[in-house]
Amino acid sequence: MGSEPSTSSRFFALEQGIACSRYDVEVDKVEPYNLGKAARCPRCGGVIGMKPWLPPHRAELVLHGEELGDFIKAGGDDLLVSERFAQAFREEGLTGLEGFLPVEVLQVRRRRRGPKPLNIPRYFIVTVCFGHAAVDLSRSQIRYGTPPRCEECRSSGLDAIYSFTLEPGTWRGEDIFNPRGLLGVWTVSERFERFVARHGFTNMRLTPSEEYVWNPRGPHPLPTTKQGSA
Ligand SMILES: [Zn+2]
Repeated sequence: MGSEPSTSSRFFALEQGIACSRYDVEVDKVEPYNLGKAARCPRCGGVIGMKPWLPPHRAELVLHGEELGDFIKAGGDDLLVSERFAQAFREEGLTGLEGFLPVEVLQVRRRRRGPKPLNIPRYFIVTVCFGHAAVDLSRSQIRYGTPPRCEECRSSGLDAIYSFTLEPGTWRGEDIFNPRGLLGVWTVSERFERFVARHGFTNMRLTPSEEYVWNPRGPHPLPTTKQGSA
């Protein structure tokens, strides 16, 4: 039977492929489009996400690379996945993505010279769920501009991440989720990692959480004596 969530599980941070890669693309939402209300924490009422893009989802794709991948960030917390990805995700019973509403791609524009891409997949818009798993501050190297105050969402102003680990016993088995204390850092299970490798899904980058670095302001390593302190 299915395996229980265990404390020894490994996790990965999921990002889209690097800029200037073969699959480099941007999503241009067709105006006028509507945004909904951002999700709020049930305990503190604080905003814990970006405003979601509401139907109808009509977009143009601007292709900087050479072909269209299976995974495209659409701005905010919105994400496009190919039909191939969506189908396999649901057939294999993975969890943690919500929505799966169809996106109408009106056209694909190329930024570089070259033939139009032959294969334009159908895309679906999804969002990543808020998971129960919480970041383990004592075993992570995270610098907060604003430290978390609410125990439920642990929403915070993040400055930099130099590795993260989840608190044992807090994960409830979602295959992709936003961890408490690291909202916006899409985190995936080992099962998800194997799923991506087996299907060869494109334009996804997976980094073991212990090696994940996010440091938008440049290299200022955390002082080791203060690691994890808020
Ligand atoms: Zn909260």
